[in-house]
Amino acid sequence: MREPVNRDAAVVLFSGGQDSTTCLFWAKKRFAKVYALAFSYGQKHIHEIDIARQIAANAGVEFHVIDARFISALGSSSLTDSSIEMDREQKGNTVPNTFVPGRNMFFISMAAVFARERNVNHLVTGVSQSDFSGYPDCRDSFIKSMNVTLNEAMDWQFVIDTPLMWLTKAETWELADSLGVFDLVRNETLTCYNGIPGDGCGDCPSCRLRKAGLEEYLAKRDRKQ
Ligand code: ZN
Repeated sequence: MREPVNRDAAVVLFSGGQDSTTCLFWAKKRFAKVYALAFSYGQKHIHEIDIARQIAANAGVEFHVIDARFISALGSSSLTDSSIEMDREQKGNTVPNTFVPGRNMFFISMAAVFARERNVNHLVTGVSQSDFSGYPDCRDSFIKSMNVTLNEAMDWQFVIDTPLMWLTKAETWELADSLGVFDLVRNETLTCYNGIPGDGCGDCPSCRLRKAGLEEYLAKRDRKQ
C-alpha cells in the first residue's frame, strides 16, 4: 500500500530565473514542504544551476538537479547550441530558435515522477501565457492537457499549479514584491539568455521582457507611494 498523498507538499520546477524563483516563494507560502527541481539539459549557461542551488539553499528548500541532457541531444535550440545565432525576436507566428523543443513536456514529466515517488501531487511551474514568447509549451492548453496525460500515465491525481499563467511580467514583479522577495528576485536570479545575473545584459529577448515589466511595475509602485 502506498502512503496517502501529502497535500501539504509541492515540487517546484526551478531554474533560478525570475519566474521560477517567484513561484518558489509562492509555494513556500502555501506548502509546508517544498522541493526545488533544476534540470541540466545542455543549456549554454550551466552556472544557472549554481545560482538556482544558492537561491534554494538561502530559502531553506530541498534542492535536486535532474540530468536531462538528452533534450539538447535530441533537438536544437540557440539556448543549447553556440553555433546557432539567437533570434532577437519572434517573427510573425513562428517559434523563435530560443525554443527548446520538448523541454517543458520532459521537465514536467520528470517532475511528476519525482513527486509521485514522494507521495506529492502538486507541481508548480512558472509558465505564462501572457508573456509566452511564442513558446507553445508555456500555454494554458498545454498545461491542462499535460495534467490529464500525467494522471492517465501514472494513476495519480496531479495538480499543476501555474501561479503566473495569466500575469504580465509587471504583475509577476508585483507578486514577488508582495511575497517580500522583490530585491532577491531582482538581484540574485538569472533570466538573461547571455548568462548575466540580476538585470542581465539588458539586450537579449529575455532581458528586454524582464526590463519592460520591471519598469512598468516600478512606475505603478511609484504612483501608489
Ligand atoms: Zn540578457
